[in-house]
Amino acid sequence: MSGTERLPAGYPEARATFRDRARSVGARLEAVVHPEAGPDGDELAVDVAVVGRPDAPARLAVVAGTHGVEGYAGSMCLARLLAEEARDLGDDLAAVLVHALNPYGFAWCRRVDEGNVDLNRNCIDFAAGLPANPGYDELAEALVPRRWDDPQVRAAADEALAGYAARHGFPALQAAVSAGQYRHPTGVFYGGTAPVWSQRVLADLTRRHLQGAERVAVLDLHTGLGPWGQAELIASRPDEAERARLAAFFGAYTVPADGTSVSADVSGDILEALRRWLPGTETTLVAVEWGTVDIVSVSNALRADAWLHAYGELRSPAGARIKDQLRAAFAPPEGDWAAAVTERFATVVAQAKEGLLR
Ligand SMILES: [Zn+2]
Repeated sequence: MSGTERLPAGYPEARATFRDRARSVGARLEAVVHPEAGPDGDELAVDVAVVGRPDAPARLAVVAGTHGVEGYAGSMCLARLLAEEARDLGDDLAAVLVHALNPYGFAWCRRVDEGNVDLNRNCIDFAAGLPANPGYDELAEALVPRRWDDPQVRAAADEALAGYAARHGFPALQAAVSAGQYRHPTGVFYGGTAPVWSQRVLADLTRRHLQGAERVAVLDLHTGLGPWGQAELIASRPDEAERARLAAFFGAYTVPADGTSVSADVSGDILEALRRWLPGTETTLVAVEWGTVDIVSVSNALRADAWLHAYGELRSPAGARIKDQLRAAFAPPEGDWAAAVTERFATVVAQAKEGLLR
């Protein structure tokens, strides 16, 4: 399908395209409206399309925009799916498509939500207490210094991060920074103190659209880690039976806890929550993570954005530059990147469909 291998211009266009395409295939469409508005006053919502028989024994859920700005690519993938693969699901398979699970982050060009919370670190068991991350505590001031706009402060902060990597190794730095932290609300990879709006919406959607299925596969679409345009399928703490299904569906996949992934082993991702919410269902859950630019550029874009929202002026030339930098790190404008993403996405969807119907 030509014309779909292009990132949307922004959240409003992405949302309109998703809803139009969902209607064109006769999907059941619903919107869960977010309490806040977008930068131009536009409505924000999680839009959900269910294609096929809602009581089908097998369900393929595809989630775009768990990390706000990563929804540019996720939305493009959902548009492609609605134009192509969702047209012939048969009687035994339904597709549950979730557009902009974190609509605030998508519209405002942030990876995190309205409260600076990383939804993929928020799905922990808060009753069990907040996980500690002493590495992050040590680096918090260097990661998001109050004077990000002061070159001398920046240089000292970058030196502190390089020193940590030199002492402990780069994987330890990546884990300290990105595994999740629960003590620095204006920092990066902050997991919050209670389930956030998007998590509560996802729990409700799971109850209404996925519970009761015999088999559920989930593709949670992400960008920003790994080599340019290449995808890694990342599982979250699968048991032996799920490992066997992952291998049967997709062939290669990685598990951060095994040390095989581009991602650190994180706490509180949505896949773990989905598995908890689907007891008795055969689950096959992966994040599909597409690489963009190098990890230091991605990390610096996130640090700058956290600083902007904590200490800077959003509507200023510096604010606009930081937003451009963030968007380029998670939704690169190059057409070859978008084409690589949609091509691999089509393959992964075909594998998931075949695996669910086997
Ligand atoms: Zn992500």
